[in-house]
Amino acid sequence: MSFSAIKGQDRPVEIIKSYIKNARMEGGYLFVGPEGIGKKMAALALAKTLNCLEAKTDACGHCASCLKIENGQHPDVRVISGGEAQLKIEAIRQLQKDINLKAYEGIFKVYIIDNAHTLSAEAGNCLLKILEEPPKKSLIILVSDKPSLLFKTIISRCKILKFLPLKREALEEVLKKEYKLDVQFAHFLAYFSEGRLGRALKLKDGGILAKKNNLIDRFVLSPRPDMESLAQQDKEDVRFSLNLLAAWFRDIYLLKVGLAEQEIINTDRREELTHSARVFSFFDLETIFTNLSTAIACLEKNVNTRLLLFNLRMELWKA
Ligand SMILES: [Zn+2]
Repeated sequence: MSFSAIKGQDRPVEIIKSYIKNARMEGGYLFVGPEGIGKKMAALALAKTLNCLEAKTDACGHCASCLKIENGQHPDVRVISGGEAQLKIEAIRQLQKDINLKAYEGIFKVYIIDNAHTLSAEAGNCLLKILEEPPKKSLIILVSDKPSLLFKTIISRCKILKFLPLKREALEEVLKKEYKLDVQFAHFLAYFSEGRLGRALKLKDGGILAKKNNLIDRFVLSPRPDMESLAQQDKEDVRFSLNLLAAWFRDIYLLKVGLAEQEIINTDRREELTHSARVFSFFDLETIFTNLSTAIACLEKNVNTRLLLFNLRMELWKA
């Protein structure tokens, strides 16, 4: 992972590069922004660049140091993460011991604390002490998508870099250009990933297009809808399926009002959409939208998913 591999985050990457160029890297950094946007990638790219044996402004990606960092085997670069579980003081005490030792083979010691909002109060206090007097040639990079949960005292000791979601069109371009996805798929993914490239790639690898078409075929277009398989999904999956359905009916609505082609998300099912636009009235569609948003709201309240889907499907059928 190098800076050139991080797409659509030109601003924070440029700032980091300017810090490197002006030899202004030291102490604590806080990379914030939504999940799946490239914060941790940027932290690793920074660790690599600072320790790269061949390049100075971006990691070469193939020297011994870059390869060790890539494989998580560099003795001077550590990623500390407990997922969403609380980060306990032991992990930070270890960091404290380690950061004061001379670098084994690198130039900079870099500690990346992922999900830094999970630090316990004790761990946070310990970290604060390190941040108050960080040893030379060492960096601590905190990464978080929930900065409001971080201790204010810690935030005040860090340089903050914000990573923002991409605009839908920009994400679509990245997916087409860098990941060689066709226009239809890139358009679809960009719509569902809220400007987060990591999320888009996860959806792609999870076979989202096949899942979406399966849902449309079995739940919407089939005269005998298969509600069981949908009802058996967990809450998150049901919510996502409801959003896929909302996007489907949104497309039908847009076609009905004659909106430009580039607004349609399910372009791979153009024929069925056109047909549905003739079948459904505006009133039908408005009822469906209301029912879908009620269903999404009801999911939060732990209502019976099977009943909820049944009612929803009855509405779709009636229309
Ligand atoms: Zn290198």
